[in-house]
Amino acid sequence: MTTKKRQIVKKEDFSPAEQRAARSERIIVNEAEPYGWMARSESGAEADYHLFCEPQTRRLACTCADFIFRGNAEPGYECKHVSAVLKFIARRFLETEYDPRRKPARAA
Ligand SMILES: [Zn+2]
Repeated sequence: MTTKKRQIVKKEDFSPAEQRAARSERIIVNEAEPYGWMARSESGAEADYHLFCEPQTRRLACTCADFIFRGNAEPGYECKHVSAVLKFIARRFLETEYDPRRKPARAA
């Protein structure tokens, strides 16, 4: 018999990345002018953030504090806005550009 305290399953059992992915469900994404995307929370309680594709890395960058501070320490970090915009882009791509017969373009 073990004396170890039993663990209770709670939201902390999800990794931080999993929790962010879940929160991204409450983000509304729109295309921004002249480039990039705007992400805002469904509740309107948080500020709007501008996301854009970083030319060198070809990854999304966000203007929120989470992305700026954590992203610097963790390359490839994805805040909840990045997570939401990735889904938005993927849906758009499937609707408008995806062609099953076309081979994906490869970087030279
Ligand atoms: Zn963000």
